[in-house]
Amino acid sequence: MNQLELLWQYQQADIEADNLEASIRRSPKRQKLVKLRDSFQELQKSLKQVEDEVLAMLDRMDALKDAISLTEDQIKALQARVQNEPASDSAQVRGYIEEAQRLSASLQDFEQETRRLRKIAADRDRVQRDLKVRLVAAKEEFIPLRDEFDSEYKEAQTQIAQMREKAKAKLEGIDAEYIEKYNTIKQHSTPPIAKLRDGQCGGCNMSFPSSVLSSIKSGKLVECETCGRMVIV
Ligand SMILES: [Zn+2]
Repeated sequence: MNQLELLWQYQQADIEADNLEASIRRSPKRQKLVKLRDSFQELQKSLKQVEDEVLAMLDRMDALKDAISLTEDQIKALQARVQNEPASDSAQVRGYIEEAQRLSASLQDFEQETRRLRKIAADRDRVQRDLKVRLVAAKEEFIPLRDEFDSEYKEAQTQIAQMREKAKAKLEGIDAEYIEKYNTIKQHSTPPIAKLRDGQCGGCNMSFPSSVLSSIKSGKLVECETCGRMVIV
């Protein structure tokens, strides 16, 4: 067997291992796991967001509580002033009225915002509880499936390792130069060796001129100009 034929034998074993590896990666169980994991992370992100919103609202509600009690103190102080220093002219009366209106408007604003926040907080609380329930459910679905996949994966990995060993044994007698070329081509075109089919490259269906065809048929190392694969008879 010449170098290219040996390399072809190696390719058969190498690609077989690759295919098993790819089928594990593409397995429906793994796809489902990836999907479940993504939705789990999405839920976690949403929950964190809601929790942050609730924390910010609680902070704001604390600040409002302080503002309300400060305004109430100011109203009491104004009432005391009105009693202790009754207005002596219309300008002073207007001054007292305006201050009372300003304080009462602020108080109303603060109370209105507090009510609005309380309503939103109650809604967020429901969302938070719902997200937690969904997180638990997602986890319950994920864990058994993951364990099942893990044991299948371990089994497949053993099988793949055996196939890789078998492939490696087939490298014996092949020049390092050929192996390197194979690995380089594999990075962009796989499988790296194609058979000649009806005068065309079996990898990309490009037709070869007769001079190239005779080189291929004589067993020379020929790379397809279009796809870069090594072409053999
Ligand atoms: Zn080609």
